[in-house]
Amino acid sequence: MNQVDYLRISLVDRCNFRCQYCMPEGVELDYILKQQLLTDEELLTLIEEVFVPVGFTQFRLTGGEPLLRPGVVELVRAIASLPRTKDLSMTTNGFLLAPIAQDLYEAGLRRINISLDSLDPDIFNAIIGNRGRSRWQQVWEGIHAAYCVGFNPLKLNVVVIPGVNDHEVLNLAALTIDKQWHIRFIEFMPIGNSQLFSDRGWIPSEELRQRIRDRWGLTESQVRGNGPADVFQIPGAKGTLGFISQMSECFCDRCNRMRLSADGWLRPCLLNETHQIDLKTALRTGISTAQLQEQVRGLLALKPEINFKQRDAGTTTGVYTRTMSQIGG
Ligand code: SAM
Ligand code: SF4
Repeated sequence: MNQVDYLRISLVDRCNFRCQYCMPEGVELDYILKQQLLTDEELLTLIEEVFVPVGFTQFRLTGGEPLLRPGVVELVRAIASLPRTKDLSMTTNGFLLAPIAQDLYEAGLRRINISLDSLDPDIFNAIIGNRGRSRWQQVWEGIHAAYCVGFNPLKLNVVVIPGVNDHEVLNLAALTIDKQWHIRFIEFMPIGNSQLFSDRGWIPSEELRQRIRDRWGLTESQVRGNGPADVFQIPGAKGTLGFISQMSECFCDRCNRMRLSADGWLRPCLLNETHQIDLKTALRTGISTAQLQEQVRGLLALKPEINFKQRDAGTTTGVYTRTMSQIGG
């Protein structure tokens, strides 16, 4: 079992996109009320006095859309300057990124993943549920801004949906040839929009790899690393291709992460809501951070037992009462 030292922190559950696979239009979500969100101060206390002491050293800011969090640059600065933060990264849809990419970098953020499901503005707009002005160009500018500022590695996340964007896999993979961009193909999961999932299904990563292999060849760059991605490379390419295959594989034995929702629930496994701990209420009712450390240690000890797919050998579909945007994907 891997050491669990990586925490994905949702800064806010709201989003300026309505991606079909995550929080589709027409689906009413119960957004977290402002007073229920962890404040910056509470979040910093939890990181510094609870998570770091129990062994977490890597933090990823996500959401919802993390750039919607007021004061996000200052929050990044505060987390990055904590003495024992080894790694701070962010996953964003990139729409609000261009004007603050430099500020985020100067505040201490070094790694960024930007979601880009299509190179075709029309398909992109259909996926993100935008019926108005095209948003693709602004995201593309965000990606370039992040690249120019020096974010390295710069990763692009692609959720592959059969019949929607899977025909773009080769074009997306080709982006890694000349630029040091890293594409992460993610298997579509039945979280957020189970109807779309039943209608469309998902494509196993190996099928995508075969398409890429047939076109350019594919070498294994780093398979079975610390994270969930299996990483490959087109021979001679500057960037890499990662495949996150949570539907076709079980990578529970190398899972190194937990998730903290924007309202302070610590979730030990993406697919399992049992055993979550409400850290915010505990903090607000005066429970000491030493006691909270004990609770988190207890959850760390339990994690191997409750990792969902490991336990059920992937035969069932998990507990999905929250969307990825609410969990902190
Ligand atoms: N809003 C940011 C973004 O889109 O990058 C961060 C939050 S989003 C929930 C994090 C990642 O989860 C994105 O890369 C998104 O594509 C992925 N995601 C959301 N719903 C998913 C689903 N049903 N299956 C697979 N990946 C999903
Ligand atoms: Fe928003 Fe990200 Fe979910 Fe898309 S995937 S709706 S951008 S939280």
